[in-house]
Amino acid sequence: MSSTFNALMDRIHRCQECAHHLPLAPKPILQADPRARILIAGQAPGQRAHDSGLPFDDPSGDRLRRWLGVDRETFYDPAHFAIVPMGFCFPGKVRSGDAPPRPECAPNWREPLLKALPNIQLTLVLGRYALAYHLPQLGATVTGAVEQWEDVWPEYLPLPHPSPRNQAWFKRNPWFEEQVLPRLQAQISTLVPSGD
Ligand code: SF4
Repeated sequence: MSSTFNALMDRIHRCQECAHHLPLAPKPILQADPRARILIAGQAPGQRAHDSGLPFDDPSGDRLRRWLGVDRETFYDPAHFAIVPMGFCFPGKVRSGDAPPRPECAPNWREPLLKALPNIQLTLVLGRYALAYHLPQLGATVTGAVEQWEDVWPEYLPLPHPSPRNQAWFKRNPWFEEQVLPRLQAQISTLVPSGD
């Protein structure tokens, strides 16, 4: 890894930019390596990821890995997957769930970091903040964006949130599992050859 990339990651991990807005001390939770070919663009780490330091180490992550057809070892290999949310630190809670990602993070850190990931070939876009950033042309609703997935495939794929709380969405939209996931898994297997 280049010293420039390492220096950028060091600066991210020392960031205090919006510390006064965060409920806990800044602790950026992300995974990145210039070799990565797949980017997971999510919202922001939750309390559990803040505590463990590991993103998607929960039932949502288990479902996401099943969708991708990869095991934990492959998922947490930064040479394969970059995990770069819209906000890097746990933003706290609001009445409806986790607070939105801090807006300071994307212009300060996310943009230079994405430029330092030259091998990304597929970006998985999770949630409305990542959708607004990466795929504004698909509209503001996650369901509407997922329904238009073929317009941006195979460079991007908008995804519903893999949370168990989203069961009703999965039931209402069986085409997602039937039509989208086989294409996704085939693409992942070309980008992450087994045994690699
Ligand atoms: S959320 Fe982003 S901008 Fe704010 S302290 Fe964490 S790394 Fe810095």
